Amino acid sequence: MEKIAKKIQMVDLKSQYEKIKTEVDTAIQNVLTNTAFINGPEVKEFQKELEAYLGVKHVIPCANGTDALQIAMMALDLKPGDEVITADFTYVATAEVIGLLGLKPVLVDVVPDTFDIDIAAIEKAITSKTKAIVPVHLFGQCADMDKIMALAKKHNLYVIEDTAQAIGAEYTSADGTKKKAGTIGTIGCTSFFPSKNLGCYGDGGAIFTNDDALAAKIRMIANHGQSVQYVHDSIGVNSRLDSIQAAVLRIKLRDLDNYAAARNKAANYYDKAFANNPKLKTPARAKFSNHVFHQYTFQLSGVDRTALREYLASKDIPAMIYYPIPLHLQKAYLDPRYKEGDFPVTEKLCASVVSLPMHTELDEESLKYITSSVLEFVNK
Ligand SMILES: *Cc1c(COP(=O)(O)O)cnc(C)c1O
Repeated sequence: MEKIAKKIQMVDLKSQYEKIKTEVDTAIQNVLTNTAFINGPEVKEFQKELEAYLGVKHVIPCANGTDALQIAMMALDLKPGDEVITADFTYVATAEVIGLLGLKPVLVDVVPDTFDIDIAAIEKAITSKTKAIVPVHLFGQCADMDKIMALAKKHNLYVIEDTAQAIGAEYTSADGTKKKAGTIGTIGCTSFFPSKNLGCYGDGGAIFTNDDALAAKIRMIANHGQSVQYVHDSIGVNSRLDSIQAAVLRIKLRDLDNYAAARNKAANYYDKAFANNPKLKTPARAKFSNHVFHQYTFQLSGVDRTALREYLASKDIPAMIYYPIPLHLQKAYLDPRYKEGDFPVTEKLCASVVSLPMHTELDEESLKYITSSVLEFVNK
């Protein structure tokens, strides 16, 4: 297919901004006029609106998603040597904070169709030192929370949901109850990094919980361990969401479900174009979760991935690899407990996945151009 005029990007924040420019510019100008840059009214309003949207008792905004995970683990009083189980196939931040706090990351494999953390593998990894499970709702759909919560209950473990990629996704329990991602476990953590589904215009993050005492502790830790001004009860961190970011997030939160619908429309287009092609395995939808498509990630079989990406690049189509190296083979996380071959699903995924452009502004012309270009290469 001939090149199209529109520039295709992995994430198109500019076109999205142009649609909400007037509102965003006014909101930012209001923060400037009021000069309440830190902990201004926008932060409190955003907190309340997000609590209502998620149906959770407490949202504690913070500086980024990595901080959210760290503060969550600090608030649960996890101590050096405690074991925390998480998925081998994820963004590094999840394991990073475990290591940073001197806790022991225990990695487990994922399941091949949905990329979710493998429940049987979690159960096998539990020891007397295990304190928490950190499921990652990877690429926009929930991990199997019923089973994770049952395991946590049985072994008396905390569950910290990493929902940086799945804000707005909804989990349906076996009994039919629906809950938003991040509101099921002990604590939920998210990121408002610009390219996330609910992204601000800088860094941002938040922590969710339904537990009043835990919420108070999280709030204290995020603010230098301060209980009353200049009274410090524990060692904390300095992690705040800026008022300007909160003002932007308030506007984008109103559109979050529409954004998810736009992402699903693009994902459905990709699915349909690639259906029944033996060389392309489209992403499976979990039966217990809807999908908010932070990424559209499919698996190749019998296709040279590097050559495909080069071909797409020659047609001005970006394609990324999330993620190219399993955590257990990353230099920073090398551990004598793990070797190549230990997590075969993750290793295979890292070698075979490709993510295509996914955002709220993909039009039919772009989708047609992307899919026909992929198929041109794959079927040649
Ligand atoms: C983005 C992301 C984070 C970290 O969020 P930051 O705001 O960039 O610190 C953590 N976990 C996952 C799964 C992510 O995708």
